[in-house]
Amino acid sequence: MKYVPDATADRQFEQDKTVDRDGVDGLLSELDEYAVEQALQLKEKAESPEDVKVIALTVAPEAGVDAVRKALQMGADSGVHVADEAIAGSDAIATSLVLAKAIEKIGDVDLVMCGMASTDGSMSVVPAMLAERLDLPQVTLASVIETQGDQVRVKRDGDVATEVIGATMPLVMSVTDQTGEARYPSFKGIMAAKKKPLETYTLSDLGVDAGDVGLSVAWTEVQDTTARPPRSAGEIVTDEDGSGASALVDFLASKKFI
Ligand SMILES: Cc1cc2nc3c(=O)[nH]c(=O)nc-3n(C[C@H](O)[C@H](O)[C@H](O)COP(=O)(O)OP(=O)(O)OC[C@H]3O[C@@H](n4cnc5c(N)ncnc54)[C@H](O)[C@@H]3O)c2cc1C
Repeated sequence: MKYVPDATADRQFEQDKTVDRDGVDGLLSELDEYAVEQALQLKEKAESPEDVKVIALTVAPEAGVDAVRKALQMGADSGVHVADEAIAGSDAIATSLVLAKAIEKIGDVDLVMCGMASTDGSMSVVPAMLAERLDLPQVTLASVIETQGDQVRVKRDGDVATEVIGATMPLVMSVTDQTGEARYPSFKGIMAAKKKPLETYTLSDLGVDAGDVGLSVAWTEVQDTTARPPRSAGEIVTDEDGSGASALVDFLASKKFI
């Protein structure tokens, strides 16, 4: 799960066009809360929940440990935070490399759950890149998830049809915001999280060369950014002579809403 700048804050870019992450509070990406929730639900529905371990993993700067803590408070069993200054400015390719190496180090993983996209970069490519790097099948954008033993069935909602896909674990999955509301950490969960194991890995712990990550080796480069223009004032339709309804209809028709 990704630690991202708060999307409700006023976000800025640095001189080198990377996101100014120090100027804004960070948090666990809202879309990743759905992945945490689904992982917890699969654990709760398992025949022997005590045998299922939910591990929250993030690759993020130092403050990103807060994202792991949030997942622990929600109910994850343990956390892993990969933090290393050399990772700053990494693109999706390098991020997926570090994540894959961390998952390999964690070991016997049956299901890698991701969000449908991060709320900052929102490329939706990391889960597919992870599947490729780990040589695992992938099921993306799941909206309903069922498991039986090592068999997984998911629904994927398209524009004109819903697909039902079957796969065998181990696999990589990304889940949408249609999977169901994520739980809030309870007071008990917050207290329990303080005692849960949380490991920090550096690149050398993972056997990743610092020269394979970071801005200087990124395959993509943000060349320019333009702030979105401020929202213009809305059009107010007043109804003094009974013509308000038709003015409203004309306005909606002009925008092709009706
Ligand atoms: C330490 C660090 C520093 C970075 N610095 C910069 C920077 O300076 N400027 C800049 O523009 N970008 C930076 N990035 C962002 C980086 O380019 C993106 O993380 C990467 O390209 C992934 O793309 P995305 O966020 O669009 O992921 P998506 O493909 O949209 O994410 C899909 C899902 O993949 C998982 N995922 C994605 N990233 C992570 C992660 N890091 N940890 C755990 N799970 C993840 C999540 O479940 C997420 O919902 C940095 C990333 C890291 C990790």
